[in-house]
Amino acid sequence: MNQEFSVAKFGGTSVADHQAMTRCAHIIANDPQVRVVVVSASAGVTNHLVALCQSSLDDETRQQHVDGVIAIQLNILEYLSLDADLAIGFENTLNEFRAAALKAVQTNAQRDELLSFGERLSSYLFTQVMRDQGVSTARFDVRSVLKTDSQFSKAQPDIAQTRTRAQAELVPLLSDQVVVTQGFIGSDEYGDTTTLGRGGSDYSAALIAEAIGAKSVYIWTDVVGIFSTDPRVCEKAAPIAHLTFDEAAEMATFGAKVLHPATILPAARSSIGVFVGSSKDPQGGGTWIEKVPSGELIAGVRAVTQRKNQILLTLKSPEMLLASGFLARVFTILSEYKISVDLVTTSEISVAVTLDNAPNASRPELDQEALDRLGEFCHVTVENNLALVALIGSEIQLRQSELNLMQVLSNFDIRLICHGASKHNLCFLVDQSQSDEVVKAIHQQLLEQGQ
Ligand code: ADP
Ligand code: ASP
Ligand code: MG
Repeated sequence: MNQEFSVAKFGGTSVADHQAMTRCAHIIANDPQVRVVVVSASAGVTNHLVALCQSSLDDETRQQHVDGVIAIQLNILEYLSLDADLAIGFENTLNEFRAAALKAVQTNAQRDELLSFGERLSSYLFTQVMRDQGVSTARFDVRSVLKTDSQFSKAQPDIAQTRTRAQAELVPLLSDQVVVTQGFIGSDEYGDTTTLGRGGSDYSAALIAEAIGAKSVYIWTDVVGIFSTDPRVCEKAAPIAHLTFDEAAEMATFGAKVLHPATILPAARSSIGVFVGSSKDPQGGGTWIEKVPSGELIAGVRAVTQRKNQILLTLKSPEMLLASGFLARVFTILSEYKISVDLVTTSEISVAVTLDNAPNASRPELDQEALDRLGEFCHVTVENNLALVALIGSEIQLRQSELNLMQVLSNFDIRLICHGASKHNLCFLVDQSQSDEVVKAIHQQLLEQGQ
């Protein structure tokens, strides 16, 4: 155990340019307990890389995306003079990127390799920024310790191997220096590069904290904590000082982009406190996510989230009437195609599930082949442009006070409601064009009292 160590993660906007990186370096220089720094790709880079993975890309557009990635690096490099060890690695990685980006991506492994360049490049530059602030810093390739399966774009970590390797290769480096490493990426048993899914650097930070036995993870982003709803959507959103692991996990799952949903898994498993704060305003407070004794739970709705670009898949089969095995068949196919569903409702002859169709996802959630397989034994309807709105909290019950909710919802066209499987959420689907209004109306009705 290295209970005196913490891990800090800086997201894309925090490492977007030299000025932003310098702010982050100050945060680390002021906290000697932080020994591992996990960085994302600089803002905008991964979107360029995702675009480069498309098969139907004309040469000119391809070149524009390559130039876009390089311009972001050079814009930072302009303020730096790289030490020899970093200069060689950076130059080689940039050349590797140029070569990889010119080839059309043909395999899932090639796609993850291409997606990995953002973090690989930003970590060289950030290491130099740290050294320029007088902090003894080494760059470390996380792929040698963060081991995963071969589910490219959505790789699952191998916790035991990651811990063993981190103890052997990473911990010995931490006694007298800070180590800067990459979020989002790992490698499988064959040494091929894998990625953990969009926004996965938060998850990487928690996995590394678990692997080195750290006591806390600091997620530095562009907001002063986790808010009662997305502050970009609702100006009355307020930061929440404390959340339980369950509440934070539900918020992240249902759309609070500020945290990757899987981040809480290692944190809760290994009792690692997670802090979310703003790298632009480190003194501005933030949210602590921790295990909270059940006696101290704050009951009721604490936040409202939304996830746009949801697909509603309705599967109807006359055979379902009293027929057993229909749901099992449906879910077997969904699992074969690694399609993860969020909400599920059933009637006697149909089942409806929701899936995520986020733009810029490293891979689409629904593919035609899966639809064809489902179409062999049921009638399939696909509806797009929906948003999943979720009320999050502990012990959510439709008590008298929350009947206000029904009043609010009666003004909107609600497509589907789910509640009951967990007392931490109540979810429904609305037309995407209405979802911001729904969120604001719910926030006002349930979360702005006493503000
Ligand atoms: P990073 O690049 O640091 O990982 P992200 O863009 O992934 O940052 O996440 C931060 C953004 O999450 C914020 O700018 C904010 O708009 C959005 N967000 C969505 N829901 C919430 C919420 N409930 N609280 C705070 N931020 C939220
Ligand atoms: N760079 C990756 C992304 O944009 C991972 C991350 O930032 O967390 O999704
Ligand atoms: Mg993020």
